[in-house]
Amino acid sequence: MPRLAGKIALITGAASGIGRATAELFASEGAQLVPSDLDEAGLQGLSGLARRLDVTSEADWAEAFAAARAAFGRVDILVNAAGIGEGSSIEETTLASWRRVMAVNAEGTFLGCREAVRAMKETGGGAIVNISSAAGLVGDPKLAAYCASKGAVRLLTKSVALHCARAGYNIRCNSVHPSFAETPMLTRMIARAANPEKVRAGLIRATPIGRLGSAGDIAAAILYLASDEAAFVTGAELAVDGGLTAA
Ligand code: NAP
Repeated sequence: MPRLAGKIALITGAASGIGRATAELFASEGAQLVPSDLDEAGLQGLSGLARRLDVTSEADWAEAFAAARAAFGRVDILVNAAGIGEGSSIEETTLASWRRVMAVNAEGTFLGCREAVRAMKETGGGAIVNISSAAGLVGDPKLAAYCASKGAVRLLTKSVALHCARAGYNIRCNSVHPSFAETPMLTRMIARAANPEKVRAGLIRATPIGRLGSAGDIAAAILYLASDEAAFVTGAELAVDGGLTAA
């Protein structure tokens, strides 16, 4: 029996990296998809009701949920995978960069959770999986805004989980914390370095398991939390980081 048989899943950031791998895995496990991204053309090849959704836009969220409910009757799963990374220390971070990162990573996840709770509580419940980061569990001196945004996602997740549990909505909400997963985001970050090979080797050395993660490694954890196998799991934070934050 496929692990997501009959489930309707809205996934943000589905054109690339972790979002794309999650969409492909979910489809292979029987879910019907509402894959979304800023870049609608990048959603080609994914099944379902593909649509452009800028996670910073309140109107886009309302329209995406309305369209999904019109097509499928409900949304069972929301995966907030859209995100951006801008690397700088507190001294170098401009207000514009702080606001860009917070708008996509923190506000975008807030808007998604709020829309999902409003919709799911009307249709019997659901599961929300928010993609935070190892940088939402521990600090990184070069990622001031990114750490702040991912820390916000971590505790927003717990607040949503508790609210929904206490209200009896049958909605679970959990966060996933990847470290270095080989996606276009990480590849771009490595390529910008003065010595990319040295940076790549340093990331591998920093990871106790001794390799970079893959988008598939992260998607597998998202699948578990989105599925009914995690029926008693809410407000949890799952590090998928090769042991990085265990030390
Ligand atoms: P990715 O390959 O860059 O994919 C992110 C996707 O989100 C892109 O398609 C991007 O579109 C889209 N996006 C950006 N802003 C958006 C917006 N306003 N509305 C809708 N979509 C938007 O990155 P990834 O590595 O898969 O990252 C997925 C998530 O995992 C992010 O939240 C990231 O912070 C988190 N994460 C990644 C790693 C890692 O090592 N890869 C580690 C920890 C956490 P554009 O390409 O057009 O910007």
